[in-house]
Amino acid sequence: MELHGKNLIGGKAVASTGTKTFTGVNPASGEKLPALFHEATAAEADEALSLAAKAFEEYRRQPGEKIAGFLDRIGEEIQKLGDELIQRASAETGLPEPRLTGERNRTVNQFKMFAALVREGSWLEATIDRAQPDRKPLPKADLRRMLVPLGPVVVFGASNFPLAYSVGGGDTASALAAGCPVVVKAHPAHPGASELVARAIQAAIEATGMPNGVLSMVHGVSTEIGTRLVQHPAAKAVGFTGSLQGGRALFDAAAKRAEPIPVFSEMGSTNPIFILPGALKQNGKAIAEGLAQSVTLGVGQFCTNPGLAFGPAGEDWRAFVARVGELASAVAPGVMLHQGISAKFNEGTKKFQGVAGVSVAGKSTTEATQGRAPAMIFNTDSKTFRQQQVLREEVFGPSTLLVNCGSTRELEQIARDLPGQLTATIHGTEEDLLAHANLLAILREKAGRLIFNQFPTGVEVCPSMQHGGPYPATTDSRFTSVGTFAIKRFVRPVCFQNFPDAALPVELKNKNARDIWRIVDGKLTKDNL
Ligand code: NAP
Repeated sequence: MELHGKNLIGGKAVASTGTKTFTGVNPASGEKLPALFHEATAAEADEALSLAAKAFEEYRRQPGEKIAGFLDRIGEEIQKLGDELIQRASAETGLPEPRLTGERNRTVNQFKMFAALVREGSWLEATIDRAQPDRKPLPKADLRRMLVPLGPVVVFGASNFPLAYSVGGGDTASALAAGCPVVVKAHPAHPGASELVARAIQAAIEATGMPNGVLSMVHGVSTEIGTRLVQHPAAKAVGFTGSLQGGRALFDAAAKRAEPIPVFSEMGSTNPIFILPGALKQNGKAIAEGLAQSVTLGVGQFCTNPGLAFGPAGEDWRAFVARVGELASAVAPGVMLHQGISAKFNEGTKKFQGVAGVSVAGKSTTEATQGRAPAMIFNTDSKTFRQQQVLREEVFGPSTLLVNCGSTRELEQIARDLPGQLTATIHGTEEDLLAHANLLAILREKAGRLIFNQFPTGVEVCPSMQHGGPYPATTDSRFTSVGTFAIKRFVRPVCFQNFPDAALPVELKNKNARDIWRIVDGKLTKDNL
């Protein structure tokens, strides 16, 4: 399929003359890739949202079964793109093809998972309290509540998941499943893969008779286009994955609107690991290996990458630090996703090296050429860590800071002082856990996912997953951006009081025609009323 490089406003490919253009770049070679991409104009961004608002009127009325069929079809159309998608995404991101093939499976499965959720229907939380006209002292009205879609959602694709968290990623899948049209701001680091996926979704829209404008995609290399989308009055929510700076800027822009809207920014974290004394003694070698693997996996470009590890000072810890350093030294530098990420990694690791009291315990022995990142293991003590705020900042890439600590109380204090996280991990024996019960209680307040004797990288897509956490990990810790519960970001509850059955949504009528689970007068049931 030849790439046209245009913005997709509903079914139309659009590029105004005289607009800024850019190309995809192969981060491994610096070579410009074929096709010229056109940044959207302000008018095109506005048109995408106006069309989305129009499409919403029709899309929100679609029966669950039709939306589910649409989501399944998107998965099929993405799959049909075949090797072309994998090859283009690999050229644009430097990610190896097997990794992208796995990511495509995840992307397709996300659509299937949301299709199944929509069909099953209990996510709508249909809740009915029947009238009690004879109740004393006052009669009770008939009340029926369910979740309804918010309206058009603006999605910002992530650079580190060009398929699973981009144009056809989890944010788009969950918003479409909720009944919301989507306008995607494509990430400029993979514009070709973005266009291919947007065209696959377009094909699914046409094949299943969904309204024009249920998905649009605009390109942009400056922050203005994204900000404009967020500020457009038709936008009703935002899904974002990326930097703290970007996520926060969009959150602030949305809060300043005449009508503020929710922004679900997932901005990453340092994912601290606490290695307790018993585990260190019994299992130090295996933990060192697991940590080195987790830190360097995918050139460390995961928001769940462990950037901090704490353990008890002493001989066991010294051996542990030496082992992690040694393992990292043997890892070859890897290509980073784009020049900006590579520059930020170099800046971050330089900052760490400039802190008195921080040493390098290990670094890839092979010299890193332009655009590649060496694995880097830093070593410090708790005093330095507590004094230097900069050491709490995420360095996105294959690096981690190992910190030796004194007492259990000090470990607890460090945990208390940490900012919000996506994950927190404990390595311990059962005795360790008993002796550190308070640490676990502290970490529960800090993170969305607590991990025991495993590592944080590798986020399973399933209903029980929580991928979110207190700020600055995300802008709203009550929600997840991975798994079925991600749909709850894009809906709101509505209660119908005293409506005739004929005027109620199908999910709230007396006859349970969709055969979904509902709570009727306090009891979970599929019965008709
Ligand atoms: P990014 O710079 O935050 O960009 C993500 C998307 O948001 C891009 O489309 C970008 O558009 C847009 N954007 C960023 N700042 C904006 C602003 N102020 N106003 C409007 N739009 C804005 O993320 P990235 O390029 O993927 O990577 C940069 C850094 O983000 C990394 O070094 C890393 O620290 C972090 N990161 C975190 C995660 C995570 O999973 N949480 C994933 C990837 C990266 P433009 O490019 O057109 O400005």
